[in-house]
Amino acid sequence: MTDDPGTMKADVVPRHGNPILFLDIDGVLLRRRHSGMFDGFEIAPHCLEFLEWATIRFRCRWLSSRCRKGFLDGSHRAFRRAGGSLSDPRWQVLHQIEPAMWSAEKTEAIDSASDFWWLDDDPCEHDRDWLRAHNHEDRLVEVRSDRNPDALMQARSRLPAGRLVNSC
Ligand SMILES: [Mg+2]
Repeated sequence: MTDDPGTMKADVVPRHGNPILFLDIDGVLLRRRHSGMFDGFEIAPHCLEFLEWATIRFRCRWLSSRCRKGFLDGSHRAFRRAGGSLSDPRWQVLHQIEPAMWSAEKTEAIDSASDFWWLDDDPCEHDRDWLRAHNHEDRLVEVRSDRNPDALMQARSRLPAGRLVNSC
């Protein structure tokens, strides 16, 4: 087992004061490949680098159909099938990210009163309506790693911690 819980012990540090960063997986941290191998996805460029950067600045939560019932198995399986070497210590970063639970709409998982940001490649009309209704349209950062290999790096500059780091 490459992702045995015993060998992938999480080094979780509570970051209660940090904003929440909701992370879609497909099309954001994994990108669709055309060959159809391994579940049709591969690791998006800069994925690990982005996760390492994000997890020390935000409380990261998966907001993905891969794990919407609250179990991490689906997200870990997706990264493994996409070619992630989960036995590599760098991939321990996955254990710092908890799944956000939802059933029909991703916005069920978001508290509109919280300080949150959301990365997604394909927000639906309901998502946009919800964000608009709560005046949070600026909290959605659209990341399309399928088309843009630099999408994750560019997303950093649109997140507040990215600006803070750059200004130091
Ligand atoms: Mg997606």
